[in-house]
Amino acid sequence: METVNPVMLDELTVDREPFYVDSHNQIPHALGAYEARIPILLRGPTGCGKTRFMERLVWEIDQHGFRASDTGEGPGSKTPLMTVACHEDLTSGDLVGRYVLQGESTVWMDGPLTTAVRHGAICYLDELAEARRDTTVVVHAVTDYRRMLPIERLGTVIRAHPSFLLVASHNPASDMGLRLLRDSTAQRFMTIDFSYPDEDVEAEILVKEGGIHSDLAASLVKLGVGIRRQQLAAGSVLPSTRLLVHAAKLVHHGESPVAACEFAVIRTIATDASEQEGMIELARALLPE
Ligand code: ADP
Repeated sequence: METVNPVMLDELTVDREPFYVDSHNQIPHALGAYEARIPILLRGPTGCGKTRFMERLVWEIDQHGFRASDTGEGPGSKTPLMTVACHEDLTSGDLVGRYVLQGESTVWMDGPLTTAVRHGAICYLDELAEARRDTTVVVHAVTDYRRMLPIERLGTVIRAHPSFLLVASHNPASDMGLRLLRDSTAQRFMTIDFSYPDEDVEAEILVKEGGIHSDLAASLVKLGVGIRRQQLAAGSVLPSTRLLVHAAKLVHHGESPVAACEFAVIRTIATDASEQEGMIELARALLPE
């Protein structure tokens, strides 16, 4: 039997310092969790910086030299970040691996979780609650003190590389909160809560990521906060920092601020024409032409 693995781990390392404003000083707590090898759950709405936080965390782990010395495998001293977007059709085989046909023979191919466990990567399961329950159970053994991954198909169990860590994200607001993480899964993690950045921080992000002037960034943030307030009262979708960054980028490329917000933010979160019109009015009131 052969083991093939198409994932190039050294392409998954974080080589440049990611821009991340750690305004609630959460990176040090996550670094502590990494040192103690306690799995981390990042909880918060979409587009509020969880993925960027992960990239920054991995970069910090490497800067601090927290990666355990390799066993000869893996990409040397840098930590690969393997991200898996969870969804309802994700099977345990997708995570752990499966036999695939290669020419005339059948070969075993590690899934992303197994690859991370073997080579000491950080495995980031994005939106873990979206995965089927039988799939989430697969992570149980590697998230407790045993740090072992059973691979039923191979009739084997592998011990996690000392640098391996599992991190998951969860957006409790998605699907009206119906997709809850089971207690038996949730209580394997230490939890960091995320929400939209404070106004001055969000403006700083728009300047840096969107390449716009700080005055315009402040106005975009005011609009974002205003729309969030309205939408929250109506129980509707809130615009994320990601959408405000999109609007800033459109402005940077020549779009007018109002049109940028209309297309990047307002039409993205609302389909109802009168709802959209109300928000466009607010944009006209708060933004320059
Ligand atoms: P999530 O993973 O929570 O869905 P992301 O990490 O993809 O969200 O964040 C969306 C975008 O918002 C990022 O690409 C980045 O531009 C911006 N962003 C959000 N929070 C921060 C932050 N604290 N520092 C820097 N950029 C941020």
